[in-house]
Amino acid sequence: MIVFLDFDGVLITRRANLLPIPDTRVDKTARNVDKGAVEALNYLLNKLDDPKIVVSSTWRLSGIKSMKKYLADCGIKTEVIDITPICKMTRKRDLEINTWIENNKYDGDYIVIDDENYDLFNIPPDKFIHVERGWDNAGLTKEMVDNYFQWRQK
Ligand SMILES: [Mg+2]
Repeated sequence: MIVFLDFDGVLITRRANLLPIPDTRVDKTARNVDKGAVEALNYLLNKLDDPKIVVSSTWRLSGIKSMKKYLADCGIKTEVIDITPICKMTRKRDLEINTWIENNKYDGDYIVIDDENYDLFNIPPDKFIHVERGWDNAGLTKEMVDNYFQWRQK
């Protein structure tokens, strides 16, 4: 199971950014991440069969190696296998995700997690967790994960 993962508004929230920077030396990259959202993502990943992460966030522009380090620093143990391609002409996230699926000839199951939906119309709704207003709230929550699985079972 592939999880296409966005960062801003999913793991990274306004409230996490407003937290004071601790005196102790911390990894600067991971400090704007919402702890509750990380817990919710791990909660989701634990429910999935052999999950792997492909980063769809624009953060991926800094490369796969830094994505692996970033998510590991956040406390996510699931393997990050790739980033989606950059489709320069359109910058549409659904196109980037579908291009990745095509390029990799992937025919397994997947879930897309994103706080925006305007550029994700071409993702089937049963494969999409929309973290609505995630930036202003708590990012991904366990409740969203539970609601998603309940809805998918119907
Ligand atoms: Mg986002």
